[in-house]
This record gives sequence, structure tokens and C-alpha cells, in this order.
Amino acid sequence: MDCIFCKIVKGEIDSAKIWEDDDILVFLDINPVTKGHCLVVSKKHFENIFDIDEEILKKIIIVSKSVSLKIKNSLGADGIRFSQSNGKIAGQVIFHFHLHIIPRYQDDGLLMNNWGNESPPKANIEDLKSLAEKINSV
Ligand code: 5GP
Ligand code: ZN
Repeated sequence: MDCIFCKIVKGEIDSAKIWEDDDILVFLDINPVTKGHCLVVSKKHFENIFDIDEEILKKIIIVSKSVSLKIKNSLGADGIRFSQSNGKIAGQVIFHFHLHIIPRYQDDGLLMNNWGNESPPKANIEDLKSLAEKINSV
């Protein structure tokens, strides 16, 4: 399988590592959106949220907390944004599960607050309730 992140895990592609254990690797993104932008990946190949092992997923979120604190304290980030895409339509480019940790700084100019430039209209509560029913019907 020709997976870039599997190659990074195996050391076949070089990376700037921040943290690792037997299951998880954290390294800096090659195209950083802001200083300290990093990726938390499972060492085992899972495509995305739909197939990832749940114990590994728990570890990923716990590691993401400690790395977020490290970044906040070492780089002086004012906030942290997580981003995680599943499927091409959602913006996933590398089909090996990863969570982006994106440090935010005052005046970093990133249009990433809430939904970028979009301002979604307020929904009707009855419509939301019937949608919740549909979601829970499977
Ligand atoms: P996605 O769009 O799938 O959520 O994000 C993939 C991320 O992987 C992108 O932010 C991209 O910059 C990063 N990336 C792609 N190839 C490499 C690489 O070879 N090394 C590192 N460190 N990051 C990569
Ligand atoms: Zn992979």
C-alpha cells in the first residue's frame, strides 16, 4: 500500500517528531497553517473515523490534549483548533487517520473561526428534532 503516513511511521519518509509510543505518532505538518501545526496519527493504518479502532481513538484524543498543552506552553499559542476530515468530500487528502492540531495566535489571520466565511442560518427546532429522529432510526 502506498500510504505516505505509513511511510512516515516506518521512517521511510523523514518527519519532525513531537511524541510517540507503540500506537501513536505526532509530527509537524509539512505545510503548516500556523507555527506548530502537527498531525496525530495512529501507527497502524486506519483510513478514517469510520474504521479506526476505538481504543486507539481514545488514545489519540488523550495524546492530543498533552501535545496541545506542550504547544501552548512552548510556543505561546493563544488557542488550539482541532481539525479532522473523513472522506474526500470532507477534505481528507491522506487516507490514513489523522487529527490536525492547529495552534492559534492573536492576529494569525487564519479564517478558521467557526465556519470560515460562512454564516449558517438558524434552524427551526422542530426540523432539528425530526432530523435527530432520522439519525437515531438506524
Ligand atoms: P488532510 O487534508 O488529509 O486532512 O491533511 C493531510 C495533511 O498531511 C496536510 O496538511 C499535508 O500538509 C500533510 N502532509 C502531506 N504529506 C506530508 C508529508 O510527507 N509530511 C508531513 N509532515 N506532512 C504531510
Ligand atoms: Zn497508512
